[in-house]
Amino acid sequence: MKSDNEVDVDVLVIGAGVVGIYALYRAIDAGFTARTLEAGDGVGGVWYWNRYPEARFDSESYTYGYIFSKELFREWRWREEFATQPEIEDYLNFVVDRFDLRKNISTGQRVVSAVYDETDAIWVVTTEAGETTRARWVISATGGLSVPHLPEIEGLDDFQGEGHHTGAWPHTPIDFTGKRVAIIGNGPSGAQLLPAIVDVVESVDLYQRTPTWTTPLNNAPITSERYEWLHDNFEDIVTVLSTSPSGFLHEPAGKFSTEDSAEARQEFYEKIWTSPGFAKLTSNYYDMTTNRDVNLEFCEFLAKKIRSIVKDPVTADRLIPKDHLFGAKRPPFVTNYFESFNKPNAGLIALKETPIVRVDATGIETTEGHRDYDIIVYATGFDFGTGALTRMGVKGREGLDLSIDWADGPSDFGGFSANRLPNFFFPGGPHGAGGGNYPRYSQDQVDWILDTIIYAREQGYHSFEPTAAQEAIWMSMIETLAPLSIFSVEHSHYYGANVEGKPRKFLLNPGGRGKLHEILDGVSSTENYGGAFTSAHETVAAG
Ligand SMILES: Cc1cc2nc3c(=O)[nH]c(=O)nc-3n(C[C@H](O)[C@H](O)[C@H](O)COP(=O)(O)OP(=O)(O)OC[C@H]3O[C@@H](n4cnc5c(N)ncnc54)[C@H](O)[C@@H]3O)c2cc1C
Repeated sequence: MKSDNEVDVDVLVIGAGVVGIYALYRAIDAGFTARTLEAGDGVGGVWYWNRYPEARFDSESYTYGYIFSKELFREWRWREEFATQPEIEDYLNFVVDRFDLRKNISTGQRVVSAVYDETDAIWVVTTEAGETTRARWVISATGGLSVPHLPEIEGLDDFQGEGHHTGAWPHTPIDFTGKRVAIIGNGPSGAQLLPAIVDVVESVDLYQRTPTWTTPLNNAPITSERYEWLHDNFEDIVTVLSTSPSGFLHEPAGKFSTEDSAEARQEFYEKIWTSPGFAKLTSNYYDMTTNRDVNLEFCEFLAKKIRSIVKDPVTADRLIPKDHLFGAKRPPFVTNYFESFNKPNAGLIALKETPIVRVDATGIETTEGHRDYDIIVYATGFDFGTGALTRMGVKGREGLDLSIDWADGPSDFGGFSANRLPNFFFPGGPHGAGGGNYPRYSQDQVDWILDTIIYAREQGYHSFEPTAAQEAIWMSMIETLAPLSIFSVEHSHYYGANVEGKPRKFLLNPGGRGKLHEILDGVSSTENYGGAFTSAHETVAAG
């Protein structure tokens, strides 16, 4: 039997998504004993749960995939610039087997409690099934978009047809053929689903709360020449992905809008329209995200495009955003989204004009009338940023209960740790991403976390915890820069606005990768991380 201060593993990872898999790999690679607990019955995280038709990347496949191993980069051949869910899930399973990680992963294990034992500096983590693991370090890679959110609509449970959330899609494919379908939500998931099913259903209505600046993904197969180039330039690619603000490979425009004439700007916007995915933000004029007039001019260009694609002018007008600039809300990048509304069997329900009154046994009633459906799809997003962490029963030092402590919004350091949560990390948590290629931001965080744990081992420290002062510096950066961020639109999920009753707090890192590195480097270069470490017999004195 184990004595109270013995651990089962050095490092316990919670979650087997793209971030958790990397954290487990690094922990084992560093010689720690490590284990992962994953709620799902398979690995992949987002790419395990979101199995709806046309769920796909809007980061280029090879920039989203891991870049820590040149061999892995060469061995996996992505088929498309932007891969679909089955291929991504296959890839993440391939990585798990390639690095022999599966034996360390327990699936079907939802963590319901994680309690810090202050006396022994050990986390006691318990699953829904009642299994307990004692770990020195916990890395909670539980995802920012892993808790599906259902809107508060009267009668949701009364519906007698099929109802599915895109983020908890069944493993058995849904047959949409000849069905009457409602999609509630026009964010990236709803926008991907509509063109994927419009040609097989009897009818489909998209329920839209506020229009978004959707633009074409501009996907393409990856040719052999492209592959050769990627392989030949691996080292340079890693450098760009590891240092660029967005974590993408996209070429910056290299100019401000003021350097072009009005005519040249229109030509430039045409080029941007045909560029891949997020390049519409990252390769746009430098001042697109800082100069309102330039952004408005680009929005007008996009509005014209929508009017030229959608034949019915009333529908076109309803699809054009009026309340936010391009990029202020997460823009969907989708093939044939606007074109779908030209099909005779596709409808658009503008919820601002005709709100939903209730769902009932046969369909949806709006203020305009009742429509019958066979299937209702909820593409209504997630409890972003904090959802998984505040549901996990996390109890830290001095009685800290995360669900209570974060009731008015999260407070953290680096978007992955917090004062009074010793030895507990949450890469990809609130204030983690800066609005870019997610795995690149999270890899920065995981690397810092593992380097910190390795340092603790070398120096004989038992405990790491950011001081209250370090957390205050980080949070002051968040609060100062949040209003200046292009994503600073209070009615977006980046502020938790899609979840009824959630406090409106900015949940991204508005300083981006630059600030993350600056603050982390500042801490790790001070002696013993400025008091963030304690050894076995020291009393923690944060401040
Ligand atoms: C449909 C969709 C498409 C996306 N496309 C992109 C894209 O193209 N580019 C991009 O950069 N980002 C994209 N994202 C954002 C996405 O969240 C990240 O890319 C990435 O998946 C996050 O990885 P993660 O490992 O942090 O979290 P996740 O992939 O969410 O994995 C977290 C895991 O933790 C598990 N978990 C949660 N709570 C518990 C618990 N209590 N106990 C045990 N296990 C638990 C979950 O089951 C899940 O498997 C997309 C998100 C969605 C939903």
